[in-house]
Amino acid sequence: MIIALAALIVIGALFLTLRISDKSLPPAESETPIKPLEEAKVRIYEALRDLQFEYRVGKLSDADYQASKQALQQELARVLHQMDAAAPATKAASVGKAPKAEAPKPAAVEAKSYVCPHCEASFKDPLKFCGECGKPMEAQA
Ligand SMILES: [Zn+2]
Repeated sequence: MIIALAALIVIGALFLTLRISDKSLPPAESETPIKPLEEAKVRIYEALRDLQFEYRVGKLSDADYQASKQALQQELARVLHQMDAAAPATKAASVGKAPKAEAPKPAAVEAKSYVCPHCEASFKDPLKFCGECGKPMEAQA
């Protein structure tokens, strides 16, 4: 009896985790704004194909075909426009990361450089005399 109960609990837990992972999938997909748009685009292409097929086999009248095709093409244009609008946002986000990664580099260079005590000009190499103002660099260092 206890084993049966334990088995039930395990099965119940499995069911729950499976359910949770199923539910957690859609929000994960919506993190990338283009994904649902791409799915919509594919659906519209499929609908256009179906429409052409139905028209060819004579299920649709000329007027019905043209009207449905136009509606689908308008929807397609809207989806493609939304994809265009969504794309620069993701590009801008990745571009925004680049300067942050480069930021520590100038600071590291500055730490190694030699600064003139008179005019505060900085040089990569240790100099006896400042290349900017000509005063001795090491005198006050
Ligand atoms: Zn100087």
